[in-house]
Amino acid sequence: MKRKNSPKTSLALRLSCLHALVLGACSLFSFLAVYTAMVSNVHHRVDERLRHEHSEVASLFSLNAISGIQETLTRLAHAEGTDQVFYRLLDERGVLLAESDAGAWTGLEVEQPALSAAVAGQPFYDGAVVGNSREQARVLYARLSERMILQVALRTAREMQPIRDLRQLFFTFGVLGLVFALIVGWFIVKRALFPLKNMTSTALMIAEGNLEARVEPASRDRELDHLAQAFNLMLDRIQLFVRELREMNDSLAHDLRTVLARINLGAGRLLASRPISEEQESLTVAMVQDSAELLGMLNTVMDLSEINTRIVQPQFAPVDISELSAELFEFFEATAREKQITMQLHGADQAVVLGDRSRLRRALANLLDNAIKYTPEGGRVTVEVRHDKERVTFSVTDSGIGIPAEAQPFIFDRFYRADKSRSSDGHGLGLSLAAAIIQLHGGAIHVQSKEGSGSVFSVSLPQSTPASS
Ligand code: ADP
Repeated sequence: MKRKNSPKTSLALRLSCLHALVLGACSLFSFLAVYTAMVSNVHHRVDERLRHEHSEVASLFSLNAISGIQETLTRLAHAEGTDQVFYRLLDERGVLLAESDAGAWTGLEVEQPALSAAVAGQPFYDGAVVGNSREQARVLYARLSERMILQVALRTAREMQPIRDLRQLFFTFGVLGLVFALIVGWFIVKRALFPLKNMTSTALMIAEGNLEARVEPASRDRELDHLAQAFNLMLDRIQLFVRELREMNDSLAHDLRTVLARINLGAGRLLASRPISEEQESLTVAMVQDSAELLGMLNTVMDLSEINTRIVQPQFAPVDISELSAELFEFFEATAREKQITMQLHGADQAVVLGDRSRLRRALANLLDNAIKYTPEGGRVTVEVRHDKERVTFSVTDSGIGIPAEAQPFIFDRFYRADKSRSSDGHGLGLSLAAAIIQLHGGAIHVQSKEGSGSVFSVSLPQSTPASS
């Protein structure tokens, strides 16, 4: 199953958001518990008062006849404030018999289930929203006599005020607290993740070729300290392994070079000695050529691995690509003339880059060499140097055999040759070395080619500014 590539977010941001979220959820949960307990406490106290009001009316009711109850209810409500308490006397079907001043109690209905419960002898407590300003109230339905139900209502605004204030405070400070938790969490997580940043930059330094780089132990956290130690131990082993491999390669290459040079020299001497038969001469010439070719190949492979592993840090100096191109143009003109290839140079002045001149010369020379090598007699090769504010571009265009589209992605690989018949000289190393050199200089190399029509190889390098040189 394919996993969708989700956009990457910062771990520090995610952890600090999570931390703030957990903190917020815990605070909200605690607040809800306290809030519910406080509200239930207020209801408990108000219900107590409702019972008291009921028993007061009940005691007065036993003294007065039904004819005087309206007056009694009005008087009682006035004594406490008609907006604070309300009495309503109903018969068992809910028909109104008497009530106190109802001006401040609009919206207070008679709820049928509550009435039925009261009729059945069960006092019923309910909540209601009353008045124009829609305030909270508690209501009690309870039997007053055999056939009469008393509905008593009390406003709870005063009792609920501290709870409302608390709620207000919680939300105001809760939002501020969450922002604070987010910021503090961000700093804490950033600090905790700092050793990882350290490890990433060390790994990047190693990827750049600095095998000496090591992670500073994070003294505060034991786990990260262990990770840093393990990381450094791994680097020690890798460095040792690379060093051994390099030493083995170096000594092998050195020995091979010595043997090849000796063969080359011996064959040269043999060639100079007289008398020599025709067969001996041709064999010796082949020996000289083969040993020279093998020596060249060995040097290229060594150079390539040195560049790719970045074991030796390159020393860069300003190099004028226009001047280098003119020099190479002059160098290759004679070879081109032999094949009746027309060569042209379009140069630009002051196309300066920071680099290693001899390596850059080798890379660009390879492109020119290939252009002439893969262009049939009578063809054309054009060298062009351009530059803008940021980059210098060097391109070689030829009217040669071109490269098949399917071979183009591989021509920069080591030992790859598009010409499978191996009809021309070469080992498929030139372009891989050129690409490695250009990459070493922070540049890029591209090819555009059509089989049978020719190719364009372009190299783009960062232009050297006075500050960078
Ligand atoms: P080689 O030593 O074989 O020239 P390179 O690495 O220089 O090795 O080139 C790799 C392959 O790319 C060559 O074998 C050739 O097939 C193809 N190639 C390179 N340059 C050109 C060019 N200008 N025109 C046609 N083919 C080319």
